[in-house]
Amino acid sequence: MAGAGKKIAVLTSGGDAQGMNAALRAVVRLSHFHHAEIFYIKDGYKGLIAGSIERATWESVANVIQTGGTFIGSARSKEFMTKQGRLKAASVLALNEINALICIGGDGSLTGLQLLQSEWAQLMDELVDMDKMSVERAQRCMKLSVVGIVGSIDNDFASSDMTIGADSALTRIVEAIDAVVDTAQSHQRTFVIEVMGRQCGYLALTAALATEADFVFVPEWPAGVDWPSTMCNRLAMMRKLGRRLNVVIVAEGAMDDTGNKITPEAVQKVVEEKLKFDTRITKLGHVQRGGRASFLDRLLGTRMGAEAVYTVIEPSLCTEAYVIGMEGNKLKRVPLAKAIERNKMVATAFEKGDLNAVVRLRGKTFAEKVEYLQTTSEIAASRAVQSRSRSSSPCYSSSSSSSFSSFSPAVSPVTKIRSSPSIMNAKEENGEEMSEKSEKESNKSNRLGPSSNKPLELPAKKNMALAVLHVGAPAAGMNSITHSFVRCALAAGYDVYGVHDSLTGLASGVMEKLDWSSVAGWVSKGGSMLGTKKEKVTEPYAIAGTLSNYNIKGLLIVGGFEAYSASLYLSRQRKTLPELRIPMAVVPATISNNVPGTRVSIGSDTALNEIARLIDSVKQSGTGTRKRSFIVETMGGQCGYLAAMGGLAGAADSIHIFEEQMEGREVERQRVEAEHRVKRAGTHNYLMVRGEGCTMRSEEVLEIFRESHQMTSRLVTLGHVQQGGAPSVFDRQMGLRMGAKALSSLRTMLMEEPHPDSEKEGTVMIGLQGSSIRATPMIELKGISCFSHRSHNDTEWWRKLAILARVLALETRAPDSAKDKRGARALEALAEAVAEGQSEEKRESAGGEAKVSSLTPRGVLLPSFEQSVLQRGRGTRRTKGVEEESTMYSVSYEDELVEYEEGKTTKE
Ligand code: ADP
Repeated sequence: MAGAGKKIAVLTSGGDAQGMNAALRAVVRLSHFHHAEIFYIKDGYKGLIAGSIERATWESVANVIQTGGTFIGSARSKEFMTKQGRLKAASVLALNEINALICIGGDGSLTGLQLLQSEWAQLMDELVDMDKMSVERAQRCMKLSVVGIVGSIDNDFASSDMTIGADSALTRIVEAIDAVVDTAQSHQRTFVIEVMGRQCGYLALTAALATEADFVFVPEWPAGVDWPSTMCNRLAMMRKLGRRLNVVIVAEGAMDDTGNKITPEAVQKVVEEKLKFDTRITKLGHVQRGGRASFLDRLLGTRMGAEAVYTVIEPSLCTEAYVIGMEGNKLKRVPLAKAIERNKMVATAFEKGDLNAVVRLRGKTFAEKVEYLQTTSEIAASRAVQSRSRSSSPCYSSSSSSSFSSFSPAVSPVTKIRSSPSIMNAKEENGEEMSEKSEKESNKSNRLGPSSNKPLELPAKKNMALAVLHVGAPAAGMNSITHSFVRCALAAGYDVYGVHDSLTGLASGVMEKLDWSSVAGWVSKGGSMLGTKKEKVTEPYAIAGTLSNYNIKGLLIVGGFEAYSASLYLSRQRKTLPELRIPMAVVPATISNNVPGTRVSIGSDTALNEIARLIDSVKQSGTGTRKRSFIVETMGGQCGYLAAMGGLAGAADSIHIFEEQMEGREVERQRVEAEHRVKRAGTHNYLMVRGEGCTMRSEEVLEIFRESHQMTSRLVTLGHVQQGGAPSVFDRQMGLRMGAKALSSLRTMLMEEPHPDSEKEGTVMIGLQGSSIRATPMIELKGISCFSHRSHNDTEWWRKLAILARVLALETRAPDSAKDKRGARALEALAEAVAEGQSEEKRESAGGEAKVSSLTPRGVLLPSFEQSVLQRGRGTRRTKGVEEESTMYSVSYEDELVEYEEGKTTKE
């Protein structure tokens, strides 16, 4: 009964953002799960002052996870900014005996929250002095736990890598720009797109990367006063390179370095007057806030909401105010005062014009993006122009001290920022974070601002070639990877060959020399522009011949498990084939996310957005039908990632994954639960999401469900549409980052002597680990890979989220009403497992449901919900399964390579 005695109120305040409803759902359901009382405050602080407070029921958050905005309303309140207003707010909370407040909002809302908490004791005293509250009540209410969750489409909260709503807003922006590009292409137009972002250029900058915009104006990076000629040179150069259209993105807060605002209208006027290009303006406005929440925002909202509840009910934490933030893929609790202070530092640095500090405080991924845009656009573009035309042109001059600024970088300012670690600099790579000292030094020598406007140097040609190929099923984002790899390689002075037709093409030498323009427009393209096939290496000698003929000194393989296997196989052949003694890198691109060495593979986010959309439609189709259960089958082979995350994003009532064995009896229990739900709620339907690789087939599950006379059941197999069309914003930008990282890893390995001569060295897997993109030597992945199942066992992070998804779907009263004793026991076990401490002995002894419940000390809470649910994830596997799991990942590596060599096919 961890939350017993807690009275939690939740409000949404300030600007709304997609994903707030997912956070509300998690807050409400997890509070119920832990027997805490939970209340809504309608319309933010305004509603709080007015006493607009009501009990939040478990049912009230049904069917909201996908919706944009906030269903409890948001508002701005000037009154709350006054002491008098906060006094009223405090009296409402105290009179309702609320002892915990969760606020979902932006920087302003969380500043207000922090103020309220810091004044709380004083406010209580004042209420007593004014005879508005009894001394006894004031004593009972002396403590108010507060937690903030950042909802802001601008992604402008310095203590979190990601805020709720930013991914959905970017999805809207990129969809709009993709659409505009089609029409601009037809008419050879220039489009000026205005996006939100008064003091934060995150949306503009990321959208520019994801759409290959020609020019972007962001507030952190004021353009020089000569921006009209800088920009026009750039746009004209792009046309010269064969582009039929131009896209210029302007953030709302864009300005030049004298502080003058740069508006879309001003940009249009300049382009029309100077270049005579037909130019149109599109202001996206509130469209950016609207529409369905993206997969990532549903996930982020759910995770942050759950963590907020755990923070307020955990006795050791509830005395301090926290805000829930993200660092890479990890949740973190940041003291609220510290987070607000950091935001203030950003604002002060902004006012002072210390933009280097602004960018540094915003985190390294922001700086990385700026650097990527600058480097690839400046150097590679200049090389492209040089190779096409050595003669001078009205828009380009290779001489003079302003050589590079005359090309105009894609980012408005002409100064270069250093990120840490540099996305382009091979020396700092190989997964090593730059030390604090070197970061400081680097920042010192690379100050932002006009004074540091040094031209970038064009690196010397390397007279060395690299090659890139795609292997396996197509995945959205493959082209982004190749795009950035090619451009970064050209920028660094290498020649680059694209291999058409996958491994077959590499064996038969179907190679194309790629230049800067060859990969233009690829970032937004789904599928594989080079061509990809599910195949394995059958002609190593021919491949060695091609590499030698084209003088290839480094190889990038983009793809899923086939790409991984092929790289291992080719590395092994180094013993006999010296041509293969070259560095190789694999960038994981597969919707299944089943490749070891990375938390996410490129393509899986696009697939999950597609799955979430399809599940929304399936659920909608059931709204008019009474008493229906849907069994939705996702792809993913024998990796349950898509099913687990799809189930979470679709708010499924149950989730089946390959990694957890499922027996007929358990499915029967779920059927009873489904019957209960459809009966009680009348129009409520039941949704099960399951992976295609589960040992029990979906048809068998359907048979069991069809035995029910109380509901109809349908099987929906989502099929290949899950591969998605255009890549999601996440896959585009992560693809770009991984492509750049692949290049820097190959460069690092090329510098090393002697060159690799065995499978153990010289081949790396690029992957997202923690908050960094790292290159992991393949040898380190041995022992966690399972070739026969085409998966790996580094799955804890998402398996615990599958447990969270199940907890949030649980109606704790259901099994009792359904009179299903076994179901009730299972729920109890689940409740306890979530709340239990985590020790190895318990983990090992956790077998079936009964065992899980018998080993749990009641009421012991872990600091993090996500740590604790993992316990249950392990508990659900039967002992035999756990043994199988541990052997599965350690012995099959060698055997599978032998199978690969002997020509046996890998299992699909
Ligand atoms: P956001 O939360 O999206 O940044 P605002 O800045 O408009 O949006 O803040 C929302 C509300 O939070 C304000 O209307 C006000 O009630 C409260 N708030 C904002 N800043 C403060 C502050 N400095 N002190 C007290 N309350 C504040």
